[in-house]
Amino acid sequence: MSSTATNSTDLGNTVPGSAVPGSAVPGSAVVAGAGPVGLTVAAELRLRGIEVIVLEPLPSIDPRVKAGSLAPRAVDALDLRGLAERIPSFALPQTGGQRVRTGGQRGSGPRGHFAGMWVLRESAYSSKAATLVPQQVLEELLDDHAAAQGADIRRGHTLTGYTQDEEGVTVQVEGPEGPYELRAGWLVGADGGRSTVRKLSGVPFPGTDGVITGYQALAELDDPDFAPMGWNRLPGGLVVNGPVPGRVLVVEFEGPPADRDAAITVEEFQSILRRVSGSEVTVLEARSLTRFTDNARLAESFVIGRVVLAGDAAHVHSPFGGQGLNLGLGDAFNLGWKLAAVIKGEAGRELLDTYTAERGPVAAGVLKNTRAQVAMMRPGPYADAVRELFAMLLEADDANRRLTDLISGAGLRYDLGSAHDLVGRFVPDLTVKTAEGSFRVAELMRSGRGLLLVLDGRAVPEEWAGRVETVRGACEAAPADALLVRPDGHVAWAAGDGSLTEALTTWFGPA
Ligand SMILES: Cc1cc2nc3c(=O)[nH]c(=O)nc-3n(C[C@H](O)[C@H](O)[C@H](O)COP(=O)(O)OP(=O)(O)OC[C@H]3O[C@@H](n4cnc5c(N)ncnc54)[C@H](O)[C@@H]3O)c2cc1C
Repeated sequence: MSSTATNSTDLGNTVPGSAVPGSAVPGSAVVAGAGPVGLTVAAELRLRGIEVIVLEPLPSIDPRVKAGSLAPRAVDALDLRGLAERIPSFALPQTGGQRVRTGGQRGSGPRGHFAGMWVLRESAYSSKAATLVPQQVLEELLDDHAAAQGADIRRGHTLTGYTQDEEGVTVQVEGPEGPYELRAGWLVGADGGRSTVRKLSGVPFPGTDGVITGYQALAELDDPDFAPMGWNRLPGGLVVNGPVPGRVLVVEFEGPPADRDAAITVEEFQSILRRVSGSEVTVLEARSLTRFTDNARLAESFVIGRVVLAGDAAHVHSPFGGQGLNLGLGDAFNLGWKLAAVIKGEAGRELLDTYTAERGPVAAGVLKNTRAQVAMMRPGPYADAVRELFAMLLEADDANRRLTDLISGAGLRYDLGSAHDLVGRFVPDLTVKTAEGSFRVAELMRSGRGLLLVLDGRAVPEEWAGRVETVRGACEAAPADALLVRPDGHVAWAAGDGSLTEALTTWFGPA
């Protein structure tokens, strides 16, 4: 760890040239990484008045092609803060005019694929389809949102080290004008799959090594029809041509890249493309060329003292099935309000234990299903046989729904210790008639506070007023007479399910 600081900055209180102060600023956090997860955590913390500095080595948002879609639940979560309606529905540049699909309805074709099999149909819990949006565009939106909330986003600033003690964290930073230190109450490591924060924390990161080498690019080819559009399992591996012209993904199943840090050349991309497709295609130009593998690892704990991991920093897996971004956004919405409550002293650290307890199993599930997808995409008769059987089983509606719910995240239900089916699930998209007008539940949650929805006129405790907003109204489709919704949109209590006071205390701290 670096100890060559020339500057020390107390969050919200710059002290150039001074030594690191002995005590941390209590209401503050440093977030390493301005990817989608870091930006979302920062905005969620700011929403609750926490001072936040975000450190990001890249001078501007990464323009490379990464995730291209958001699962329905990720859109639902963004909707809680008024961001879903701001996701631009626009023409992808490389298509010259293809419209982006947002939030399609039931019955408009397959909802998604598993291992390249377009078989996923209907979810039992969400009628929406995935929303197609390039990750770069989403990051621009999240950056704007976090900055509007008052996050101090420092691009060109890299976390190089940190130490933690009982009161806080001292973070070493390499900035454009040299090294400096920050002192904060907490550090969030949202610095991606090769997370420096995770490595320095020493938390075990067990899992499996990669078995594939893949490349993705926006490429100009001499023969764009070198392979049929769509997913092609071929004797030499996998080629995905599209979904928009020029976007090419190619995978060999002969082991991980020899050197993951080596520069990627157009020649190596062309030679794997030729090998796998069996064609003589020539790559005239390749933009946004990335190489990937499928090592699948999960941090043993997401909270290490005053350091918290989120997104790819906490878990890595193959990009098949497009779940990494959604998984990370789920972490961010789960973490933000909990960490803020702990920082503000409204709740004890045990609230943060629920972050690992809830998100760890979700990530473990994604690791498992992406490993299964890698196994099923291998060339050869063994994977062929599994795929055939799988396709047969997925003709059954119940099996199909279960897999669709799993991959889309729509079926997610945290185990909050209740038998009530609503508790732990994302709140249904209800419209509530109140004295002020009709509102969707998401519209009632923009402040980032919890929501106590009372639909039957019952008396409810008032002591949590600053942390939980009570809304009284009527709703014909309501699945319960009263609901307590956490700031991440998950139902914490429903009428008929034990004690409301207990639920309020568990999730929002003592009265
Ligand atoms: C080719 C490809 C295709 C993908 N397709 C999909 C898809 O279709 N759907 C899907 O859901 N997901 C997909 N993913 C995964 C998705 O891109 C990631 O899961 C997502 O970006 C994770 O977000 P994050 O914020 O956790 O990490 P990142 O997006 O990696 O952001 C981490 C940030 O931390 C910064 N950083 C690194 N080191 C430091 C440091 N020392 N100090 C401070 N900051 C640091 C990095 O510069 C980066 O900006 C894909 C990924 C790839 C590579």
